[in-house]
Amino acid sequence: MVAALTSDTMPAVRGRLTPCAPLAPLVWFKAGGAAEWLFEPADVADLSAFLRNLDPAVPVLALGLGSNLIVRDGGVPGVVIRLGKPFARVEVLNATTLRCGAGASGILVSSTARDGGIAGVEFLRSIPGTVGGFVRMNGGAYGREVKDVLVEAEVVLRSGERRTLPASELGYTYRHSMLPEGAVVIAATFRGEPGEPAAIQAEMDRIAAARGASQPLRSKTGGSTFKNPDGHKAWALVDQAGCRGKRLGDAQVSDKHTNFLLNVGQATSADIEALGEEVRAAVKAHSGVTLEWEIQRVGVQA
Ligand SMILES: Cc1cc2nc3c(=O)[nH]c(=O)nc-3n(C[C@H](O)[C@H](O)[C@H](O)COP(=O)(O)OP(=O)(O)OC[C@H]3O[C@@H](n4cnc5c(N)ncnc54)[C@H](O)[C@@H]3O)c2cc1C
Repeated sequence: MVAALTSDTMPAVRGRLTPCAPLAPLVWFKAGGAAEWLFEPADVADLSAFLRNLDPAVPVLALGLGSNLIVRDGGVPGVVIRLGKPFARVEVLNATTLRCGAGASGILVSSTARDGGIAGVEFLRSIPGTVGGFVRMNGGAYGREVKDVLVEAEVVLRSGERRTLPASELGYTYRHSMLPEGAVVIAATFRGEPGEPAAIQAEMDRIAAARGASQPLRSKTGGSTFKNPDGHKAWALVDQAGCRGKRLGDAQVSDKHTNFLLNVGQATSADIEALGEEVRAAVKAHSGVTLEWEIQRVGVQA
């Protein structure tokens, strides 16, 4: 049983703690309800102390840039934790290794690696999101994924305890990790190989151009909706099932990339999720394949 989460029962913090905080402006779909509480910690000690002192029954959810999330319209019970600037530092440790704060973006990681002459993390240039989201989701593109470059992740467990988890303990599979429930990633160490900054930049440019040509990057979307089933491309199954451009209210299957759902106006998260379920049913009926959601769906229905 969770006690009512009032300002009297919440632990004292040095960062920002906001009740009933709208999440739609913080996620790429620009849809969905509010967090019961939103916590933006001042630093790691603040985050640790907060989690240690918070009723263990209260659920917590870490939020990056919300680029892979449907936040349901009834909002997210418990506490949503968003890591801001204090967690966004990227440092070059040596000729091959970077330590990246979990709030850092893929662009910041790849450009710091380029400046430090570290090749191998160019792919992060093209994935919108933060290091925390990449570690949790095993983010990947253009033949590489986080598990290929991650040495270790620093986390704060739900108990408030700080731990360093080697990549081998994170149970990585395609777009999935076994990060412990309620754990918040605070930093990650990535290893690449020595490279020439100009060549690294050229690779980043190539990836960015390929991206722009194939994906609706300036839209309100959640990225790839479904995981690629073994031996199939999700986008092709969706296309073959006749769902290209399919609409439900203001939710739409992208014409440009059929594994992307879009909010083309004032779609609710219920519209977006229901359209996704219609697509799954159409694909099942057409090809017999059951698509699995890649987008994380969180919170409660309105
Ligand atoms: C246009 C577009 C293109 C995309 N292309 C790709 C692609 O090529 N490859 C790819 O892999 N993904 C892609 N995505 C999806 C998305 O960018 C990735 O899944 C990314 O890793 C999400 O990062 P985020 O920080 O925004 O996480 P969020 O979307 O905020 O959260 C995703 C999950 O990560 C968890 N999480 C976030 N931060 C933390 C943290 N600090 N600690 C613990 N858990 C955390 C959340 O709780 C949630 O479960 C794309 C998305 C868009 C919108």
